[in-house]
Amino acid sequence: MNRRLFLYLSALLAASLSRVSRVFAQDLPKAAAVPGGVAIVPLGPSDQAPLVHLAGDRVMVVADGTRWQAIVGIALATKEDSTLSISVEWPDGDDVTLPIPVGSKRYATQELTVEPGKVNLSKKNLERYRRESAHLKKIRATFSTPLVGSLALMQPCPGRRSSSFGLRRVFNGQSRNPHSGMDLAAPEGTPVVAAAGGTVIDRGDYFFSGNMLILDHGQGLLTLYAHLSAMDVEVGERVEQGVTIGKVGATGRVTGAHLHFGVYLNTVPVDPALFLV
Ligand SMILES: [Zn+2]
Repeated sequence: MNRRLFLYLSALLAASLSRVSRVFAQDLPKAAAVPGGVAIVPLGPSDQAPLVHLAGDRVMVVADGTRWQAIVGIALATKEDSTLSISVEWPDGDDVTLPIPVGSKRYATQELTVEPGKVNLSKKNLERYRRESAHLKKIRATFSTPLVGSLALMQPCPGRRSSSFGLRRVFNGQSRNPHSGMDLAAPEGTPVVAAAGGTVIDRGDYFFSGNMLILDHGQGLLTLYAHLSAMDVEVGERVEQGVTIGKVGATGRVTGAHLHFGVYLNTVPVDPALFLV
């Protein structure tokens, strides 16, 4: 039996027996290999999933029938028209590197006015922000297995979906980090639900994000809910898709009540619109 046929048959068997991360094609995010987007990279058949990394970070791998594919988050800071490469380690010892050509996407600029202390930070607030950033960096590196639910995410609260992801933001005339999520306009107190099944891995009151919850859905997929007026779940709690986890608010650096909804893959924020059904 040749190796390809052998791999194909063993993949068929493995797929029928194992609890691998199986995702139906219609549940996959929309592919958009641009800064802030998601690349879907076919990897091939094998009885076990390969290990995939991008710049040292584990990358999501899901089964597509009898084959594997990598679902790769592309950082907003990635240069347009550049090439990323992922490393793929197969269980049989084969290691390969695959290129991901990254296209271009122009994000608009947004001017915002907030209270001055939320742009030019006092020494005390700067220290707080640095502490929080270090903590969140660790949280963002969470990679658990398997994938808990679907990759097709539910909109966490009703309201118009703004296309605010990736906006280059200018606060009170000063450039700051681009917008890392989607803002959903909803009145204070509107229930916020889990976009997919998962585990609460962080809950806190942050300088910029206000009251914030982060859920882990497995395989490096995290969702983040910021500026909440109430948080109804604790760290370690498991939640199903659609369960209420908090309420819309105006805590942190905001210009009014809304939900800031973030989606992370392999530690980087990606456009939530690619995942919403
Ligand atoms: Zn936001």
